Amino acid sequence: MPSSTGQIDVAIVGAGIGGSSLAIVLARQGLSVLMLEKSAQHKDVVRGEWLAPWGVSEANDLNLTALYMSSGAHRPTRHISYSEFASAEESEAQTLHIESAAQENPLCLGHPKTCNLLNDEAVRLGVVFHRGITALKVTPGMPPRLEYVFAGEAKTLDPRWIVGADGRNGVVARQIGCNQQKDAEHHLFSGMLVEEAQGWPEDLQVIATEGEANVLAFPQGDGKVRIYLGWSSQERGLLIGPGGPQRFLDAWRLSCVPHAEAIANAQPISPCIAYPNADSWVDHPVRDGVVLIGDAAGRNDPIIGQGLSITHRDVKYVSSALVERSTWAPSMFDDYVTERKERMSRLRTVARLTSLRESAFGQDGKALRRSIHERISANPDLAAPFSAGFVGPHNLPEEVFSPEFTTQVVGSPIWDEHP
Ligand SMILES: Cc1cc2nc3c(=O)[nH]c(=O)nc-3n(C[C@H](O)[C@H](O)[C@H](O)COP(=O)(O)OP(=O)(O)OC[C@H]3O[C@@H](n4cnc5c(N)ncnc54)[C@H](O)[C@@H]3O)c2cc1C
Repeated sequence: MPSSTGQIDVAIVGAGIGGSSLAIVLARQGLSVLMLEKSAQHKDVVRGEWLAPWGVSEANDLNLTALYMSSGAHRPTRHISYSEFASAEESEAQTLHIESAAQENPLCLGHPKTCNLLNDEAVRLGVVFHRGITALKVTPGMPPRLEYVFAGEAKTLDPRWIVGADGRNGVVARQIGCNQQKDAEHHLFSGMLVEEAQGWPEDLQVIATEGEANVLAFPQGDGKVRIYLGWSSQERGLLIGPGGPQRFLDAWRLSCVPHAEAIANAQPISPCIAYPNADSWVDHPVRDGVVLIGDAAGRNDPIIGQGLSITHRDVKYVSSALVERSTWAPSMFDDYVTERKERMSRLRTVARLTSLRESAFGQDGKALRRSIHERISANPDLAAPFSAGFVGPHNLPEEVFSPEFTTQVVGSPIWDEHP
């Protein structure tokens, strides 16, 4: 319920996909919203551009999919996992027709473009947007306190609630005393946007590992493809320097993917920034007057491309709590906290399994990848946890994420020190 005193209902820190989609949903319900962003413009710093099928269902629930489509979002319909341990024909025989398996096709749209689209829509709905802010300080309380500098002027506000949506490098979690924990790095991961990928089928997304490269491709239409690369932490400098983009493309000179040349010969149109592959989480993303969403509340390892879907589901839970209750207290987020903890734990398991199956490098790593491939070929039911990335972790039975199940997939406990 909107405040009748002129006080801001909700101040949101961060105008990325999480912050601005929440601003839209709350503004549609008549709440007064202030949105703060530190950057002068959204740049390509390598973030998610593939919204999983279950994330599209979340976007449908938030009434955002039509907005994405109006801005040229692209919807691949087929998924193929190629492998150096199988012929292309064998891999293609396992083609996933995504909509029939997961109810929706995924949705691909550039990250800066999506942020700008959502920012504009929020402003159109009456959200006050202060961009280029500095010196942010959030203090929990009932009400909480928000301090920042905008256009040279120091501001101090006491909104009814503050949402921290300031992403993986944000400061709100730390300022409100949330402990961030993270997994050890397993390998490195990066993304790059390319154009003129002549011959790449526009309806086809692909994942493959061959030798020391785990590659992923998600077409965006008009010859553009968002490609990702996972590689060994031993090769830290692989993408550093002016030759980095070319070395990224060269990693696509693979024999197991029939159309790989189309990517290897494409033109880079973005930077490529390396990230360590690891999950990170906070103990409890709620304090008096403050709640965290999206990457600020803890992020999943990007190897399975779930961050945008997670963020849309966070927005659904948090907006429902704020809209449905007239008296606001931290306990209104109890369902969100419980559901998110289980959701992130399941996705952490899937990301770990995927890292071992796709991004274990070196001789021992290749032997491990081969053994996982053989186990799943012999018993296709063992592939069940991997489908969480398409259908959503909440739509699968709990047991497929259990240590007993995952040990069958890998042949040993997944959190031991694997190669
Ligand atoms: C390499 C890589 C590949 C990925 N691929 C995928 C994928 O294919 N699919 C997928 O679903 N997810 C993917 N992700 C994850 C996805 O990008 C994130 O989960 C998602 O962007 C989180 O959205 P967010 O709004 O929480 O954070 P962000 O998108 O990081 O937005 C945070 C915003 O807050 C602003 N901000 C930061 N600090 C402050 C401050 N102090 N004051 C005000 N504003 C601030 C930032 O400038 C930014 O605009 C990937 C991530 C990486 C790193």
